[in-house]
Amino acid sequence: MNTTRTVAIVGAGYAGVLAANRLQASLTETERLSMSIVMVNPRAVFIDRIRLHQLAAGTTDAATIPLDHVLHPDVTVIVGEVTRILPERNGIVIDAAKGPIELPYDVLIYAVGSGAPPSIPGGASSHSVGTHDEALMAGAAVRRLVPGNRIVVVGGGATGVEMASELAEENPQMDIVLVSAGLLLSSLPQRGRKYVKSTLAFLNVQVVENERVVHVDMNFVELEGGRRIRSDLTIWTGSFTVPALARASALAVDAAGRLLVTETLQHQAYPNIIGAGDSVSVHGDAGKHLRMGCAVAAPMGGHAAVTALAYLRCQPPTALSIGFFIRCLSLGRRNGFVQHVGKDDVPKRVQLSGRAGAWVKERICVGVISGIQKERTSPGSYWTAPAPGARTFLRGARRLNQSRVVAGRKKAP
Ligand SMILES: Cc1cc2nc3c(=O)[nH]c(=O)nc-3n(C[C@H](O)[C@H](O)[C@H](O)COP(=O)(O)OP(=O)(O)OC[C@H]3O[C@@H](n4cnc5c(N)ncnc54)[C@H](O)[C@@H]3O)c2cc1C
Repeated sequence: MNTTRTVAIVGAGYAGVLAANRLQASLTETERLSMSIVMVNPRAVFIDRIRLHQLAAGTTDAATIPLDHVLHPDVTVIVGEVTRILPERNGIVIDAAKGPIELPYDVLIYAVGSGAPPSIPGGASSHSVGTHDEALMAGAAVRRLVPGNRIVVVGGGATGVEMASELAEENPQMDIVLVSAGLLLSSLPQRGRKYVKSTLAFLNVQVVENERVVHVDMNFVELEGGRRIRSDLTIWTGSFTVPALARASALAVDAAGRLLVTETLQHQAYPNIIGAGDSVSVHGDAGKHLRMGCAVAAPMGGHAAVTALAYLRCQPPTALSIGFFIRCLSLGRRNGFVQHVGKDDVPKRVQLSGRAGAWVKERICVGVISGIQKERTSPGSYWTAPAPGARTFLRGARRLNQSRVVAGRKKAP
């Protein structure tokens, strides 16, 4: 590599920061002199999104980490928002403090994540915890309530359950109602759902299942069929949407607007555009079992770095291999629930609950951040289970070691 080459990474979330750290730490000395890695993000902070429900409930004061505490020091940060990708010109347009900038790239890593829930009728009357600003606003609204007021949490998935239990534990003087369009946590086995429901009941959370909210008002939510539930504050935790950047840049996207990538995480038409995290959809076997979540975004970011290096070194890229091991939920600070799952995310028999479950969940939240930080000095160290079909975990470990070799700095196993 003789001339200076630029890898632009859009989005400093779990995927983007892990990609930047692994990539920068994997460069050989010669490569370091001729390559620049540039991270573009609207703020110079990392948002620990998996703690945003805690921020809203008041069980943590902050869910932000200064970017330089998690990011490799040799990565250049541009604070701004990418408003357009120009794939034909290998450039991005950045709306920065001093005005628009066009940054040319050799490789682009697209990792813009997810955020606001889809628009809902009367949505302006509800709050969300999808983004840091929204979670702050939700938290401020919670603190304006008085004892006896009711908070309705809409959404029977993991975020809704975590939000409702965190609120109930921290604000026992409030009346908390959780409304789910289907069964609560429908993908969990019956025994797990029973445990979660009994914990919610213990926390005095009223659960309404199989009822779809069709309208939100300042003082109530309306269910399909016309029934109304009084609400002094509504927090919407239904599905999140992804930024429109890929679609607006005329790149191939799925119906939800996620960048379509191959099993190596490359865009089909522009192989120097590589995607990772919530904002991409992986075509083929490597991606069909994956769901949005930091459990996927972070290791995907790691693989994006491996693919970027392979591209820059003119080596053949390898397919993504990510599987699952556990799913875990916090139910307030004192309770949690952990479900062992297969690599394909299908639940197995083993479950862990109560304080032990809470402890595991908290260790995982802490471990995600320390794992991302560790990639600054030990590229390839972030552990993840291999994809379904990979025979053993040992094979997964070997794959990681191979990634490290591909990444250029062989580490002792
Ligand atoms: C309350 C809550 C609890 C959660 N709990 C869990 C959990 O327990 N387990 C789990 O696996 N997942 C959980 N998630 C989901 C998890 O947070 C996301 O899946 C994860 O954040 C996705 O990571 P990412 O790197 O793809 O994107 P993000 O973390 O969303 O980061 C994307 C970054 O890109 C930036 N960006 C966006 N557009 C642009 C642009 N145009 N230009 C420049 N930068 C841009 C954003 O500002 C952001 O910094 C939770 C989410 C929430 C909200």
